[in-house]
Amino acid sequence: MASYYVNNNAQTNGDHEVHVDGCGWMPSSKTYLGDFSSCSPAVTEAKRYYSQSNGCKYCSPTCHTS
Ligand SMILES: [Zn+2]
Repeated sequence: MASYYVNNNAQTNGDHEVHVDGCGWMPSSKTYLGDFSSCSPAVTEAKRYYSQSNGCKYCSPTCHTS
C-alpha cells in the first residue's frame, strides 16, 4: 500500500495529477486521497474531488492517459 495525493492545482491541460508518496513531482498544494495498492483506485478517488484527474507521468505511468 502507498499513500496517494491529488494536486489541488490543475496542469495546463486541466488535469489534476495523482501522485504517490515520495514522488519528486509532488506538489506543495495537495489533498490526501488515502492508501491504495495501485494508482487506479487512487485516480477514482481523486475524481470525487476533481472530475479531470490523471495519474502522474513519473510515479503513476500506468494511470497516465493524457
Ligand atoms: Zn508523481
